[in-house]
This record gives sequence, structure tokens and C-alpha cells, in this order.
Amino acid sequence: MKIVAVTKTFPIETILPLIDYGHLDFGENKVQEAVDKWTNIKNAKKELNLHMIGKLQSNKVKHAVKLFDYIHSLDSIKLAKKISEEQNKINKNLKLFIQINIGNEVQKSGISIKELPEFYKVCLKEFNLNIIGLMCLPPNNIDTSLCFEKMHKASKELNLNELSMGMSSDYLNAVKFNSSFVRIGSKIFGNRN
Ligand SMILES: *Cc1c(COP(=O)(O)O)cnc(C)c1O
Repeated sequence: MKIVAVTKTFPIETILPLIDYGHLDFGENKVQEAVDKWTNIKNAKKELNLHMIGKLQSNKVKHAVKLFDYIHSLDSIKLAKKISEEQNKINKNLKLFIQINIGNEVQKSGISIKELPEFYKVCLKEFNLNIIGLMCLPPNNIDTSLCFEKMHKASKELNLNELSMGMSSDYLNAVKFNSSFVRIGSKIFGNRN
């Protein structure tokens, strides 16, 4: 199980002690903020893994593909196509999670469980993407067990090994359902403003 330390809104000075300690996986949710914060340090320390965990707009894909190692928020065919094009240009092959809209919420992005098999097929056959697993953001104020269980089942059906689920409030529960990447921000760095 990997802990992605979510560093959004925190300055690099706050993060450096964790890097010096040897932690390697860090998550951001905005491309521009990540580029500003991480470009230099990542060039100096190639073994760092950067994870894009937020909504990715098509016009930011070029920069995202250049900087990040993982994208957890693949949520449309349009985005799949764009990622494929940009990574082919620079001969890079990012590790990708398909974001699942596990609660079928209108305000959240992601592929529904129902559409997932077809979406996954297109990602592989048409765009040659390296899909390593599924990611979700469960609805607020519900018992997340049911969501995590559905995620686990869906990933097994596609023979995917990785699950990106669990945040500060629910990571212990996520791990019970085989989460392999937990994304933790406030439990590590404190509350964000
Ligand atoms: C901010 C964020 C997290 C971390 O949230 P915490 O509650 O601070 O642990 C995890 N995943 C995503 C997608 C986020 O945007």
C-alpha cells in the first residue's frame, strides 16, 4: 500500500522535511500549482513520484503529462485521447487510474460502473493507455464501505491491480477493501485554509 501525501495548498518548505525523510509519493490537484511547486525539485530528485489527483482540463494535459508520473482522474474519452497524444509526443507512458463516479453524483466527474467496461476497452485498444487501476471519491456523509466494495469488485472484473481510494477521513476503511493508494492530506500536514 502506498501513501500519496497530498500537498495541495502547502508550500514546498512544509513538504521538504517529508522529502528529506525519504517519502517519494506526492499528490496535487491543480496543474499550474504543481508545475510551480515541483518542477525544480523533481528535476533534482528523479525518484519522486508525482500524482495528479484533481480534475484535469484538456488544455492543461500537455503540462500535466510532462510533470506527473500518475494521473488518478481519467474521466472521459476526450481526456484519454489528449493524454495519449501528449505522451506519445514526448515518449512517456504515465500510470493511469480511471475515476469512477461511484455514487452517481451529478456534481462529481467520473465514469459510471455501468460504462466502465466499454470505457476501459477504448482506453486500451484505441489509445494504448497504461491503465493500472480505478479511483473514486465517495459521496459525503455515507458509509463508504459499500462504495469501496463496489470498487474492489469492479477492479477485479477487469483484472486491475490498483485501487486509489481513501482520504484522511476514511483511509482505514479503504484499506480494508484493498485500497493500494491512499491519498492523505490533512492528516499529514494539518488543515488547509
Ligand atoms: C485533497 C484531496 C485529498 C486529500 O484530502 P484530505 O482529506 O486532506 O486527506 C484526496 N483526494 C483528492 C482527490 C483530493 O482533492
